[in-house]
Formats: sequence, structure tokens, C-alpha cells
Amino acid sequence: ETRTETHGFQTEVKQLLHLMIHSLYSNKDIFLRELISNASDAAEKLRFEALSNGSLYENDGDLKISISFDKEAKTLTIEDNGIGMSRDEVIEHLGTIAKSGTSQFLSQLTGDQSKDSQLIGQFGVGFYSSFIVADQVEVFTRKAGLPAAEGVHWVSEGEGEFSIGDVEKEGRGTRIVLHLKEGEESFADGFALRGLVRKYSDHISIPVVMQKEATPTFDEEGEEEKDKAVELEDETVNSATALWTRSKSDITDEEYQEFYKHISHDFGNPLTWAHNRVEGNMEYTSLLFVPERAPYDLWNREAPRGLKLYVQRVFIMDQADEFLPLYLRFMKGVIDTKDLSLNVSREILQKDANVDKLRSALTKRVLDMLIKLGKNDPEKYASFWKEFGQVLKEGPAEDYANREKILKLMRFSSTHTGSEEQNVSLDDYISRMPEGQDKIYFVVADNYNTAKNSPHLEIFRKKGIEVLLMTDRIDDWMMSQLHNYDEKAFQDVTKGQLDLDDAQTEEEKKVQEEAAKELSGLVERLKASLADKVADVRITTRLTDSPACLVLGEQDMGLQMRQIMEAAGQ
Ligand code: ADP
Ligand code: MG
Repeated sequence: ETRTETHGFQTEVKQLLHLMIHSLYSNKDIFLRELISNASDAAEKLRFEALSNGSLYENDGDLKISISFDKEAKTLTIEDNGIGMSRDEVIEHLGTIAKSGTSQFLSQLTGDQSKDSQLIGQFGVGFYSSFIVADQVEVFTRKAGLPAAEGVHWVSEGEGEFSIGDVEKEGRGTRIVLHLKEGEESFADGFALRGLVRKYSDHISIPVVMQKEATPTFDEEGEEEKDKAVELEDETVNSATALWTRSKSDITDEEYQEFYKHISHDFGNPLTWAHNRVEGNMEYTSLLFVPERAPYDLWNREAPRGLKLYVQRVFIMDQADEFLPLYLRFMKGVIDTKDLSLNVSREILQKDANVDKLRSALTKRVLDMLIKLGKNDPEKYASFWKEFGQVLKEGPAEDYANREKILKLMRFSSTHTGSEEQNVSLDDYISRMPEGQDKIYFVVADNYNTAKNSPHLEIFRKKGIEVLLMTDRIDDWMMSQLHNYDEKAFQDVTKGQLDLDDAQTEEEKKVQEEAAKELSGLVERLKASLADKVADVRITTRLTDSPACLVLGEQDMGLQMRQIMEAAGQ
């Protein structure tokens, strides 16, 4: 070896390695899934690059992943003939963490094993998970297209540093050798490994091969023939077909779940998914997943999002964010289409009319899937709403065309339930509207208690009219964009004239008129003395206990918005 250098890991890598080894101890077999997942990504990247440069195959076009082990040496080897890495790429990819917000993420970890493993799961640990079971990891790799002499040998004990040297490597791609820790020898076992491959990596679209276990042969005396040379063949352990191309009825939930983990880099299960093949005008297959939990970087504008794009089963790109609107950025999945060309680029995606059609079809698909979930499984939907409801609230402004559908997905706290939980849909609200009510009443406040105790609600309570209580930061802004749902206007109870007259009895009207006459003098005096503070003073029937309340004009900005603008210095 020449040019052997020692490099320190980026601080974040060191922290992650340390935390991961401790918190993922009870899930240690996931390292195999991560390494196979990377090998599969590498194969797909090669196939993509080779579309424009066929020589990258170097006469070896059968892409595969091989797993082998050595019981004596206590090693486990995962090898692929994918794209490989150059020296610089090795240093970057296996020495740093390229995810934005990593240090912030790491600072959230508590040291509590079960909490941390949840968090780390959403973060995704990838390659570094090999150090859960190995006390030394070696990587031999050569980038497709580079000469054999430009192979790279990377070694690390997973502590502070790694060393990197040159190595002659005939075959293109990456071989990873794990030197198993004391106590982890059980991974150097054909039966166990086959089980793990089937469990975690069955959906990988290229073959995962292992050497056939030699069946012992016996001589005439019945003695096992230990020394007889046996021809050892490879056999494919997984199904080796792209999961989404298979028919729905042949795919188990477990297979969908593992596939989700592969494409999402999430350790948790998806909450639900939809797998559809569309033929005719447009031809595509989509497999869309709703995660169970929000990722750590849901609110990071830079965070990767979007679907994995395939054209006629050839992987084209990750994070194709043209296929879903921003307010559905939490969705994961795959879109495989015949309606785009194999040499489509990000720039072309932004202009292609077929992309718009796919985007609107997929958006509807997701919204319908969520509406169905809300109907069929309210409990799951409640958990979805907790994780992603706030993001969905960006929807009505971003996606005018789907407003009604998005509104159907909303859940609010309400005076009807008396609980802070956001679990009342607009349809629930409407179904409870008494005869004569034609508006959807709501109040926006900083928090639930303020909303619930708002003096504006007194008259509604008295009349038994339900009011939605909105307390999320985004609510005021969202409601300022909305006019109606199901042909019923939204009405902020703190704004303008409330025409609850329909709901008023004749007697109440009489009482009000008399009061107005009697109090006209007071009203005039109040108007005069508050002239520079309020626009008007009116007698009201809104209040039952409080003597007075402030009301905003119909066109005024809501209180939350005012506070946000004031905080921003406007
Ligand atoms: P992720 O897969 O989420 O990117 P990983 O930690 O699993 O994160 O891998 C980090 C990076 O290392 C990959 O993005 C890839 O660039 C590179 N890499 C890992 N394994 C391989 C492999 N077998 N072949 C080529 N590149 C690889
Ligand atoms: Mg990975």
C-alpha cells in the first residue's frame, strides 16, 4: 500500500458512533440492511451513469450483491459491483455526515437508550451502523471507470479515526469486510444471514447472492467426506425484483415496511401506504408512504424531500421534489413512469408538462389516501395529525385546486368536545350545525385556555353553537386565506358583526332593542372618550357574563398575525 494516511472523523461522526453503538444495541442486525441498502443504491447509480456511458460496465453488466463469511476469521463480507467510490469520495462519505442540522440533532439525544434509538432511527445511521457489530471495518472500493490501481482501502476501528491507502482492485465496486466483535460471531453464519437477507432485503431489485451451503457427503462407510472438493455455487437469496413492479396481492405488509425503510432511511414503520399502477393516458406506478413519525428536519427548508424517480425501472434520481407540493413534503415513495425520458434531468423536470400531470395525480392520490385513513382508522389518523397536521395547514394556501380535500383533512379543538385534542373535522362540525346556522365559527388564540375562555364565546355557549378553537401558530394566517368550506363561510367570532339573528328569538330581539334605546347615551359617551382607540362602540348580545369585549373589524388582521408582525418590527 502506498499513500496511507490517517484522518480524524468529523466530530459529529464520533458522537454519532458513540451514541449509536449504545442505543441501537438491541437492533444490531440492522447493520446488514444498511450495507445491502447502500450496495443496492450503488448498483442503481451505476446503471444510471451507464445510460450515457456504457463503458462503465467494464464487461461486467450483471449487477449483484454478494455476502460471504469466514467463521474462523470471524469476518463478514458484503460486496457489490456498483458505482464504487474514488479516494475523495471515500474520505467525504465515510468520514463525515452530510446531513444538515446534524449537530442540532445530536444535541437532542438524551442518553436514554429507548428515546435515543427512536431519534437515531429517524436520523438514519447508514454505513456507520457496521460498528455496532464490528470492532474493525475495512472497505475496498474502486470507482467505475477508474483504473484498477486507483482502488482505495479504508480501515477504521470506529473510534476517533480512519486510515486510507491505495490498493489494486480489479473489479469495480465496493467490498466491505466486518471484523466481528467478540460475542457477535453468530453473524458469520449462513443460516442466520439468509434469514436476515430475506427479512430485511428481499425487495432489493438486484440479486443478493450467497454461496450454497455445502451439504455434507458421506463415503461408503458412512463417514463424512470432509476433504472432498465440492463445487460451491452461488444462489440468490432474495426475490430480486423491484417491489413496486410486483402485484399488490403478492406483497406482504412486512415487505412493504422493509421497502419503506430502504428508501426512507427511517428505522420506523410507515403509518400507511398506497401502491397503484396506472395505465392509459399516463403510464406509471407509484408507491407512496406516510411515515409514522415526523423526521427530525421536517421544518428545515434545506432538508431533502421528494420521491425516488425511476423511468422504466431504471433509477434516475433521489429526492425528485417536483412530484408533490411542499405541504406534502413528509411523504416518501417511488414513482416509476414511462412518460419521461431516460435522460431526464432536474432542469427538464421543472419544465416537462408530464411532470405537472403526474404531480397533480400523485397529490390527489395522497390526499385521497389520507381522507380514507381518516374515515377508516381514526386512531391512526389522529397520530398522523399530531405529527403532520401543522405541515398540512400550509396546504390551502399552496394548493388552491385541492382546497376542499385539504380542508376535509383538518382537525381542530372545539367547544363541543371540551378537550384540547384536535380531533373535530369540518364535516363533524357541519353535521352538528343546528337549523338556520350557515357559518362555521372559529376563534384563534395563543393557546387552548385563552381560546376556550374567550369572552367572544359567551353568546355561542348560550345559544349552543359550536365554535372551533384554533391555537396553532399558523392558524391565523391559514384562516386569513380561507373563505368557505362546503359552501359555508368561515366566521371569526372576534371579527365584525355577528349575525346570529336567525338564532335569536323574538323576545331576545325586543330586549336588545330596548337596551339599545336605554343605553344610547352611554354609547355616545364611550365613543367620544375612546375616539382615538377604537373604531366604533356597539351594544352587543354576544356577551352573557363579561361587560365588554374588543372586536376586530371584518378586514382587520387577526391578533396572532399582529403579534407576528410586531415581533418582526412592522
Ligand atoms: P446514506 O445511504 O443515507 O447516504 P450511508 O451512511 O449509508 O448514508 O452512506 C453514506 C454514503 O457512502 C452513501 O451516500 C454513498 O455515497 C457512500 N457509500 C456507502 N456505501 C457505498 C457502496 N457500497 N458503494 C458506493 N458508495 C457507498
Ligand atoms: Mg445508506
